[in-house]
Amino acid sequence: MTAYELLASGLGQLGLSVDPQAVEKMLQYSDLLLEKNKVMNLTAVTDPKEVVTRHFLDCAALAPYIREGQTVLDVGTGAGFPGIPLAVLCPGAQFTLLDAQRKRIDFLAEVVSALGLANVTPVHARAEEFAAQHRASFDLAVSRAVADLRVLCELTLPMVKTGGLFYAMKAADCGDEVGTASRAFAILGAPAAELLRYTVPHDGVERVLVRLQKTADTPDKYPRRFKKIQSDPL
Ligand code: SAM
Repeated sequence: MTAYELLASGLGQLGLSVDPQAVEKMLQYSDLLLEKNKVMNLTAVTDPKEVVTRHFLDCAALAPYIREGQTVLDVGTGAGFPGIPLAVLCPGAQFTLLDAQRKRIDFLAEVVSALGLANVTPVHARAEEFAAQHRASFDLAVSRAVADLRVLCELTLPMVKTGGLFYAMKAADCGDEVGTASRAFAILGAPAAELLRYTVPHDGVERVLVRLQKTADTPDKYPRRFKKIQSDPL
């Protein structure tokens, strides 16, 4: 199978409609990613078909949960995961892609321009600092491979609207991590975690979306400074 066929068939397996233009855009992004990866560290993956399975199809599993008109924050987006694949698949939602590393955000600005993604804003900032001006501002937050849930939730939930949702993408064996974070969930206003299991098409890897609905405002004292978040997690 070509990378195009792999991606189109995988999206179909996830129940997503396959728009040929969206598939082409994602493959264009893959080319940009692998080219830039030769001069800066963006991903451990070097094979275009692995970009499709390990990055695109994993991230695409979140697309069915995003609605037209929603604002979505990707915390610690790195080279654009899950934010860029989701923005291509959900053109009716608005995405803010946040990362603490300037070079990664500069790369994402190039991607946004090359792909003509009018629904993506890359932002260079630390989440705990960005939160000061963006409290309770986003309908949804998403994040993959950034931090342990206790830390990640303190960085992210303050920026989610009350009534909004946070989807943390985690490994299949995240049960203990979720259990340890239950106190943090409650303190930050999202007491009940739901685990949504899925299998990445053509990869076979089992993954989990930890879904947290924010049912109460996050107390003003969170997020604390990063040193404190790390040294004394909730
Ligand atoms: N989400 C991407 C993925 O799944 O490929 C990138 C994961 S990478 C391992 C973690 C990223 O989180 C890095 O790019 C790092 O700069 C960013 N990051 C870590 N802590 C952060 C913080 N407090 N605020 C913003 N970005 C952060």
